[in-house]
Amino acid sequence: MLDNAQTSPTIRGLYINGSWTPAARTFDDLNPSDNALYARIPDATVEDARRAIAAAKAAFPAWSTQPFHHRAHALLKIAEVWDRRKADFGAAAMAEGGGWFGKGVFEAGYVGEVFRSAAALCYQNIGEVLPSEHGKLMMATRYPLGVVSVISPWNMPGILTSRGFAAALAVGNTVVLKPSEDTPYAGGLYFAEILEEAGIPPGVFNVVTCSRESVGAVGDELVENPDVKAVSFTGSTAVGRHIAAKCGAHLKKACVELGGKDSMIVLEDADLDAAARAANFGSFMHQGQVCMSTEKLLIQDTIWDDFMSRFLSRAKKLKTGHTKDKDNVIGPLVNNRQALRVKALIDDAVAKGARVELGGKAWDNFVEPTVLTNVNSSMDIWHDESFGPVVVAVPFHTEDEAVALNNDTEYGLTGAVWSRDEARALAIAQRLETGIAHVNCQNINDEPHVPFGGTKASGVGRYGGRWSLDAFTELRWITLDRGGRHFPPVF
Ligand code: NAD
Repeated sequence: MLDNAQTSPTIRGLYINGSWTPAARTFDDLNPSDNALYARIPDATVEDARRAIAAAKAAFPAWSTQPFHHRAHALLKIAEVWDRRKADFGAAAMAEGGGWFGKGVFEAGYVGEVFRSAAALCYQNIGEVLPSEHGKLMMATRYPLGVVSVISPWNMPGILTSRGFAAALAVGNTVVLKPSEDTPYAGGLYFAEILEEAGIPPGVFNVVTCSRESVGAVGDELVENPDVKAVSFTGSTAVGRHIAAKCGAHLKKACVELGGKDSMIVLEDADLDAAARAANFGSFMHQGQVCMSTEKLLIQDTIWDDFMSRFLSRAKKLKTGHTKDKDNVIGPLVNNRQALRVKALIDDAVAKGARVELGGKAWDNFVEPTVLTNVNSSMDIWHDESFGPVVVAVPFHTEDEAVALNNDTEYGLTGAVWSRDEARALAIAQRLETGIAHVNCQNINDEPHVPFGGTKASGVGRYGGRWSLDAFTELRWITLDRGGRHFPPVF
């Protein structure tokens, strides 16, 4: 519970089986704007994770077999409590996550809809009736899996955590959530407060927080424990690969939403003012710490000067600093490790000949909005997700070149194409190797009911709407014979 906006929350412990249990150790959770202590967070052990999984397993039979409208009403109640406490979430996202005030408002407003759309899922068709060669009544129908482990990132702790578990609960699974060590409150224990207040039965939803030092062992338990039936993971490609490999070895379902290296293509017939404005948002919103951030601006050479002057004149107005000042649209990177990594990418590019058109400076956990040109594929920044307020701008001559530059990455999350000729832009969008593509908008788009997810190293599986059913249910073939099945007479 937050004492007041911007100050520290009261941390009551891990949330297991409907009770708050202190852990033997804690770790420090810092405000990245000034490295002040935000909260002391329980550092769970493998044994704590096992207790949470056991609680979720015990709660599964009753939760999964109750009338589905009870689960729908429970999800609507969560949305109601969430909406009532939106301001608390916004304050936590600013202080713990280092997000701009406006980002907190947006995220707090979105999460209620994630729960409402999950409630709607309870009323969806869960299967199909199939024809039978033998006159049977045959159906393909969906069943909940059991305990689902949810592992979430820090960059959008409200949206990405809720998206990771709301549909799982709707279809009858029970959940153990492990939030990021950088946002253990906003992405974890805060949800426990909300679901407790909403009256979700003990054990249906559990939260286990742990430090970066403990996450290897606790994470393995959340994947390998035989009572865990599926894993819902959002985070980096490195950790996602590790988790998906373990799930593969144990033959468990995994929905993994991972990193991106997304491009926005601006064709010569685009509305350049609108494209420049969108590029500024797509590149720098939340310091570029969004999986869908615009990391590469691909600009047709004939409009290069015109577009760049419009884009740079907008980008240079963004102010960088402590998020307690609402004018600072660019807050800190989430921790010093990330800030140093982003600065190293800029330095590597500059050492290899990149030109800094804007920004380039870094101090404490802050990196200024930075625009690089004269970039080539020998530079780390061409391949690596920066996950910071850095965008590269690259000219192209033909549409084929633009498509090739877009696809020259191991990632495949989103793409964006700008043109006044909608048919031309749509034709290009269809050639992008991404799970998502937008015409005449930037890359950062999501809605609770759409099939969200990437291709290539950006992940496997989809979150959102009925597509979440594939991640969180088992599809079974069930038949009823009415005497139509013939066997060889020898039997
Ligand atoms: P991360 O992979 O470091 O951490 C994600 C989660 O995994 C955290 O909860 C972390 O504690 C946990 N984790 C770390 N090591 C683990 C292990 N060995 N076993 C189990 N869990 C472990 O990622 P991050 O820094 O929190 O988030 C940033 C990354 O997430 C970026 O790459 C970004 O693109 C990606 N992301 C993807 C999406 C998407 O929908 N595709 C959305 C947001 C963020």
